[in-house]
Amino acid sequence: PLSVTVRGEIFLAKSLFHKINLKLETPYANPRNLASGTLRRVKSSEAAQLPLDIFIYEGYFDAPAASHRQILRELELLGFKLNKNIGFFSDADDLTGIRQEHPLWQVGPIGEIEDFLKQAQARREILDYEIDGLVIKVNEIRAREILGFTGHHPRWAIAYKFEAPEGSTIIEAIQVQIGRTGRATPVARVQPVRISGSTISNVTLHNQEYINILDLAIGDRVNVSKRGDVIPAVERLVEKNQEGNSTWKMPALCSSCGSSLSRSGAHHFCFNANCPDQVRARIHFFAARDQMDIENLGPETLDVLIDRGLIKDPGDIYHFDPEVLMDLPGFGRKKIELLKKGIESSKQKPYRIVLQSLAIPEMGQKVIELLIGAGFRDIESLFKLAETANIEALTSIHGIGEKTAASIINSLKTLKLRQRIEGLKKQGLSFSEEKSLPEAQFPAIFKDMSWCITGSFVHFQPRELAAEEIKKRGGRVTSTVTGKTTHLLAGSAAGSKMENALSLGVKIIQEEEFLEFLQSPQNILDFSST
Ligand SMILES: [Zn+2]
Repeated sequence: PLSVTVRGEIFLAKSLFHKINLKLETPYANPRNLASGTLRRVKSSEAAQLPLDIFIYEGYFDAPAASHRQILRELELLGFKLNKNIGFFSDADDLTGIRQEHPLWQVGPIGEIEDFLKQAQARREILDYEIDGLVIKVNEIRAREILGFTGHHPRWAIAYKFEAPEGSTIIEAIQVQIGRTGRATPVARVQPVRISGSTISNVTLHNQEYINILDLAIGDRVNVSKRGDVIPAVERLVEKNQEGNSTWKMPALCSSCGSSLSRSGAHHFCFNANCPDQVRARIHFFAARDQMDIENLGPETLDVLIDRGLIKDPGDIYHFDPEVLMDLPGFGRKKIELLKKGIESSKQKPYRIVLQSLAIPEMGQKVIELLIGAGFRDIESLFKLAETANIEALTSIHGIGEKTAASIINSLKTLKLRQRIEGLKKQGLSFSEEKSLPEAQFPAIFKDMSWCITGSFVHFQPRELAAEEIKKRGGRVTSTVTGKTTHLLAGSAAGSKMENALSLGVKIIQEEEFLEFLQSPQNILDFSST
């Protein structure tokens, strides 16, 4: 029998992480947190549900090996999974022989290590697993023995860390925000820290579960990240506080109205529909740019109106007299006329936008499109559905589950929502889809871009379908990567085009990312600037 001890690193592929994370009530900041959070679970059957993977990087055999290369080769022969991105650099060994033995390795003289590090950093984005650097190890085991160890690390292995979009800071407070649906979201106020060109002072902590997994408390030192332009996230706890605060707990009562907070699923909620913070958030949401987009009725103006009791419900926006603002600093005749115009013209918004603006739980853009697509083209048909509590009519729509269906029907049954809708209807807002939207509804987000497509895709078969999506949005698609190419859409098994793109510094986009941009084109800015 053979006896061997191995060391390796467990990981979760980025593509799988994104897919899984979308379905979780408590999203994770990165694949590592999800993988380690799962591994810490007591039940191995729970951990087994996550498609974790492993790379083995070290082995200890009964008969000591002469070199690291020999160890890796034996591990490979035994069937262990090794990382294929390995570089071997030596001024003494026979490099031709080593190249033949390890055709996938990058082999060269010692002087090429620096280039290898640079290449690894450039390839980092296109790997399907996250790396934060490389480890440079001495190959000869005898040399390792001579070099020995310092107090805490071997002298024969050095970790080379890439520059990370992370910063270290301290949690000064954790405050609970009550959103438009009553959801209570803990937010960490951190000592301002600069990351990737912006200053971070607030970081969402999502919910109690998220805090438990990271084991966070006020006073803790944490690492905060900002990847691309995504919202800042706490990556990990670095050091527990000295004040003796243990893991933070959600308070029992809503800080806005004093009702008790109760847990439903992964989140806590304030179920008082008249909770002042909830009402305020609902009004803000209604008027915001992604919803009714009421010009000249920005958050500050809304706050003034809410504080003075002039707006208590989204419907009041169409009732109050803007003239009352006349006496206030910052409001003149011109501004008030513009505000009136903005409110009036918002009445032209299509049904789907009006519906979305009402902030009905589970009724976001996607669900609304599914409903309209399935024939629920006006509010009356939805009310009828709620009266007959016809859950099956909703669950038969592909993409709407039982939980969503039940929640929608519950909301539509509440008197308060019906009154709000009746009021808005009287003001002339649209509660039915008149005719189908015009064809040209694709924003020209790929204008001035030249795309090339390579590899195969899950959502685009044949890949001409992806080309159509680009062209519809104003982009050009070419068959080869040239100096003029701005983006390469890379599927699996991408070949030489990928290498050309890498050497030309062309931005490489993977399918998941591409889909995200098609779905939320407002993100295109950070897409083209990276
Ligand atoms: Zn409340």
